[in-house]
Amino acid sequence: MNADETLERPPAVDDAGTGPAFIALPHPAVAASARPAEAAGARQVPLYAPRRKIYPQSVHGTFRRIKWAILVVTLGIYYLLPFVRWDRGPNAPDQAVLIDFSTRRFYFFFIEIWPQEVYYLTGLLIIAAMALFLMNAVAGRVWCGYLCPQTVWTDLFQMIERWTEGDQRAHLQRDRHGWTLERAARAVAKHSIWLMVAWWTGGAWVLYFADAPTLVRELATFQAPIVAYAWIGILTFTTYSLAGHMREQVCQYMCPWPRIQAALTDEYALNVTYRYDRGEPRCSVKKSAALRASAQPAGDCIDCYQCVYVCPTGVDIRNGANLGCIQCGLCIDACDGVMAKIGRPARLIAYDTDLNIRRRQEGKPALHRIIRLRTVFYAAIICAVAAIMLYTLTTRSSEGLSVIHDRNPMFVRLSDGELRNAYTLRILNKSLEMRSFVLTVDGLADIDLKVVGDTTTTGRSALIAVGPDQTRELRALVGTYSSLPPEASIPLTFRISDTKTGQRASAVDHFRGP
Ligand code: SF4
Ligand code: SF4
Repeated sequence: MNADETLERPPAVDDAGTGPAFIALPHPAVAASARPAEAAGARQVPLYAPRRKIYPQSVHGTFRRIKWAILVVTLGIYYLLPFVRWDRGPNAPDQAVLIDFSTRRFYFFFIEIWPQEVYYLTGLLIIAAMALFLMNAVAGRVWCGYLCPQTVWTDLFQMIERWTEGDQRAHLQRDRHGWTLERAARAVAKHSIWLMVAWWTGGAWVLYFADAPTLVRELATFQAPIVAYAWIGILTFTTYSLAGHMREQVCQYMCPWPRIQAALTDEYALNVTYRYDRGEPRCSVKKSAALRASAQPAGDCIDCYQCVYVCPTGVDIRNGANLGCIQCGLCIDACDGVMAKIGRPARLIAYDTDLNIRRRQEGKPALHRIIRLRTVFYAAIICAVAAIMLYTLTTRSSEGLSVIHDRNPMFVRLSDGELRNAYTLRILNKSLEMRSFVLTVDGLADIDLKVVGDTTTTGRSALIAVGPDQTRELRALVGTYSSLPPEASIPLTFRISDTKTGQRASAVDHFRGP
């Protein structure tokens, strides 16, 4: 790159569109120097902005390497995890991560979540939300720039695009010179690979809902359930559309997080920042040498647009904080490369704060406060919820009992004078062995317990067998000959006790009278 020649080059976007892809507030420092008309807000901002196709240029550097590493790890986990096995014994599936709708279980390595334990999902959602807030408080949209599936898949699709269509300049030139056989062949190759990746993305998703090797065999021999093909089709379409075609539009117009994030940030959060205190007034290398020789101010920015060319969302970070910026750090890599070539210090664009820029301008040292009230608060909630979940997971029982009283009728009086209430009982056996439980009821002076269809009932107790990793639903009739006060509602305690281990569970309901 010749820095002097690139001074007037436009951003790498398809100019077919007329409006801006987003609205950026000009930086005060920029307003004072480079673009007076733009900075003064003289541009008319249309209500509708047609999409400008962006051709991001490839870039090398620290943040690009971090993004590649995250891409390999996250996509590797996503595509391969369904094939990881986990031995749970003879009566349980051996897939490490499985959402089994047929038995209504979620398996995650050694953890098995039952439908009654869906509150763990609530805990996970709280932790995920707080982690997002914490990331935002520490380093802005770090989720958007590095971890969001939209960013990861878009990165992958852009890499495929560069393989097939060439880097920015070649791709742009080819697109501007109309259709040729070569362009058509490259386009076919690109879309074919995109569709294959999208198809495998949808395919990997359904493997989390059934035994993966079996489902792969069934899919290949067209014997899989129709719903599996339908989901693969839907996810193939959404992946291809969102990562291949819509890209930055998803971040700028569809995703609510940038709006929420903007309300949650503060002046200490690190963001990808153009250090205008160092960069302005921007001018070419030659001109800045002349200005400096005559003791006039000259910034380090040579206005080469490299930071804009590599930006996947087409943002010029020098215009200040922008909703379109996903904080991926690629402009830092691009600018560091430029600075290295012209022999100036790196990090003209860096993770920094406007507060620090102002402090440096006032001759004060930079201030970094990662530990502050909001980061401590978010971290404390994450730790507290994680600790509660861990405690309940490690101490949870392997049996459970729930009771529901019949609503209609609430009670019946039998011809021999017995007053009877009916209940639906559900006994859970979360272990992988057959178990027998003694069911008892307490709360009334005399109790006549009957379990419908069970012959082991003896007045106050019954022996109930429950299969491994199963739930058994029973209908229990509780009667009494005692006289009760009018409109009685007497608490009854139902208990189950394992005949071998003595492990217990209980549930409370009421006995109603006339
Ligand atoms: S900030 Fe860096 S990459 Fe961007 S135009 Fe200035 S010198 Fe070039
Ligand atoms: S401005 Fe920089 S950090 Fe923001 S999206 Fe563009 S390249 Fe990434």
